[in-house]
Amino acid sequence: MTDETRATEGVAAPDAPRAPDAPVRLRDALDALPAYTPGRPASAPPGVTAYKISSNENPYPPLPAVLDTVRDAASQMNRYPDMSVGALTQVLAARLGVPAARLAFGPGSVGVLGQLIAATCDMGDEVVFAWRSFEAYPILVTLAGAVPVQVPLTADARHDLVAMADAITPRTRVVLVCTPNNPTGTTVGDAELEVFLERVPSDVLVVIDEAYLEFVTAPDSPDALAVHRSRPNVAVLRTFSKAYGLAGLRVGYAVAHEPVAEALRKAAIPFGVNSLAQAAAVASLEAVDELEVRVKELVAERERVVAALRDQGWSPPDAQANFVWFSLGSRTVEFAAACQDAGLTVRPYGSDGARATIAEREANDRLIEVAGRFLAAGSA
Ligand SMILES: *Cc1c(COP(=O)(O)O)cnc(C)c1O
Repeated sequence: MTDETRATEGVAAPDAPRAPDAPVRLRDALDALPAYTPGRPASAPPGVTAYKISSNENPYPPLPAVLDTVRDAASQMNRYPDMSVGALTQVLAARLGVPAARLAFGPGSVGVLGQLIAATCDMGDEVVFAWRSFEAYPILVTLAGAVPVQVPLTADARHDLVAMADAITPRTRVVLVCTPNNPTGTTVGDAELEVFLERVPSDVLVVIDEAYLEFVTAPDSPDALAVHRSRPNVAVLRTFSKAYGLAGLRVGYAVAHEPVAEALRKAAIPFGVNSLAQAAAVASLEAVDELEVRVKELVAERERVVAALRDQGWSPPDAQANFVWFSLGSRTVEFAAACQDAGLTVRPYGSDGARATIAEREANDRLIEVAGRFLAAGSA
């Protein structure tokens, strides 16, 4: 075939001859990707301390012992990390009381979730999840060529597990249950989860995303590990980013039955969990008592903020993580701007609402103050 015929035959068909100077072919799936919006950096008017409360980060600095461990590990950074994540696997398996073979790690639990979708979904397969929920879900699903099936939250910002079970089709491979749900903070109940799981076919993987587990105080919150033990199609996703304060190092994991865990390890990018992250995670598990004190303080702050908001006349949904949700509708942008003027960078979500992370006490005080003023101004 000559260059001339190539040029005239066009580029539309997948197996069409190449046109000269044709642009690099990228997948159509990319056009459908919603962009992941990272929390904006903090900014504030002059003289005001800025707080970034848009990414659910832990406001405490690293524990000195964890920092020392990371410094030591850094002296070996010319070496590849342990691809088997051996030391962390041993410590965590013992801590959780699960066989080591049921653990799979990745660069953040977002990384593990990417592995999970790559391991379960072919083109056109479906992944069911609540909406709004974690904004990485539609991105990872769409990028894999799978189809996101988004089931609206209930009026009180909780998962509608009945509707989610109804949404399962023969193409469904995975259902994501985010509890507490990011960004609304609500948990699923243990009884409703059992009813839901009874309806899920055994070949559909249910993933319970527990990124904020450590902050949960609701008495009816499920014991996801126990649920996992009793059901071969249930996996649990956890992270060191939030309660453990290692967001910048990127390490998360799944607890899954062996065939699934093995598939997750196969689907991993080699050496995805770096050596500093592995060392820091082990050191954090050893310092869990100190970390729990911090978590308790954040939970107490959350309760204080929620109580103050209720006093002001807000009706926030049950907050079970390290953030609060403001259901604002068309006033979302206005609220985010009011916070920004006060030096608080919150996370607005379209015209649904805004999420604010529980942070330093001063930031929480200021959030209460801004929310009170906003409500008074709006209802006047
Ligand atoms: C933050 C978060 C994660 C995990 O993030 P990583 O930093 O990648 O571990 C997972 N799920 C939800 C719902 C989150 O909010």
